[in-house]
Amino acid sequence: MTERLRIALQKKGRLADDSFALLKKCGLRFAIRGGGLLARVKNMPIDLLLVRDDDIPSFVANDASDIGIVGENVLVEEQLVAKDKLDAEITMRLGFSRCKLCLAASDVSGITASSQLEGTRIATTYPGVLGKFLKDQGIKAKSVEMKGAVELAPSIGIAESICDLVSSGATLEANGLTAFETILESEAVLIQSGRTLSPEKQALLAKLMRRIDGVIKSSETKYIMLNAPKDKVAAITELLPGSDAPTIIPLAGSDLVALQAVCTENIFWETLEDLKALGARAILVLPIEKMMS
Ligand code: ATP
Ligand code: ZN
Repeated sequence: MTERLRIALQKKGRLADDSFALLKKCGLRFAIRGGGLLARVKNMPIDLLLVRDDDIPSFVANDASDIGIVGENVLVEEQLVAKDKLDAEITMRLGFSRCKLCLAASDVSGITASSQLEGTRIATTYPGVLGKFLKDQGIKAKSVEMKGAVELAPSIGIAESICDLVSSGATLEANGLTAFETILESEAVLIQSGRTLSPEKQALLAKLMRRIDGVIKSSETKYIMLNAPKDKVAAITELLPGSDAPTIIPLAGSDLVALQAVCTENIFWETLEDLKALGARAILVLPIEKMMS
C-alpha cells in the first residue's frame, strides 16, 4: 500500500481558504465537506487533516501529521507555552496571511510606548509571546489572558492595553485603540518536525514544495509586452522590476521595437505611466500561471 503524506490545515478561519487555494494551485484535487476530520486528495497519496490552527504545531510535533500549514504567530506561541520543546520547525514561508502581533492602547489611557506599560494590565490571547517580550524588555506588567474579543478589554475596564493580531488596523480603530509597537511579524508557514520521513513521503514532499515554490513565484511574476522607440530600450529596461534580459524584436519599417520581459516583482500603475512617458506604447501586463526553473 502506498504511504499517504498527511498535511494538517486549519479547518475554518482566516488561514483555511488560502491554504486550500494554494494546494489546489499545486494540482491537488480534493473537496472539503462538512465536519470531516480527514479529506482525501484524489490524485495524489496525500490526506488533509482539518483541525483548529492552535493544534497544528503539536500535531506535527507528535506525529499526528507529517507537515502542517499554520500562522507563524501560532507556531511561535505554541512553542513558547509548550511544557516540553515542540519538535516543529518552519520549512518554507508561504507569503499569505501576513499580519503583525501588536501592542495597542486605548486612546484615553495615554499609553503610546511600551516603556509606559510598567504596572499596567495587557489583555491578550498570546500569553507566551507577550510574556517573552515583557521579560526581554524588563517590563513588569500583568498579562490578562483571554480566549478572544481582546479588542474589547479596554472598553470593559479589564486592561489598559492589548496585545493582538493586526492586519489592516480597522478593528483597532473601531474600538478606539492605536497600535504603538509590533512584537512579531507573521505569515503562513509550512512546518515539519525533525523526524525523517520514509523515502516515498520525502519524495512527495519535495515535489509538493517545488510546486508551492512555483505557485508563489508565479503569483509575484508578470510578463510584460510593449512597443518602444529603439533609443529608449535601455531606459525602459531600467524601469522593469526584476527583469534582466528582455527579448527585443525589431518591427518592420519602423523605429519601434517590440520588447517582452518577465518581471519578478509586481508592476504598478505608476511604472506603466513612467514607461508611457518614455515613449512605450501598447503596453500589456500578463499574469503567469505556472513556473518551474
Ligand atoms: P481556530 O478556530 O482555527 O482556532 P482562530 O480563530 O484562532 O481559528 P483565525 O482568526 O482564523 O484563527 O486566524 C488564523 C490565522 O490567520 C492567525 O493565527 C494569523 O496567522 C492569520 N491572520 C491573518 N490576518 C489576520 C487578522 N487580521 N487577524 C487575525 N489573524 C490573522
Ligand atoms: Zn486558533
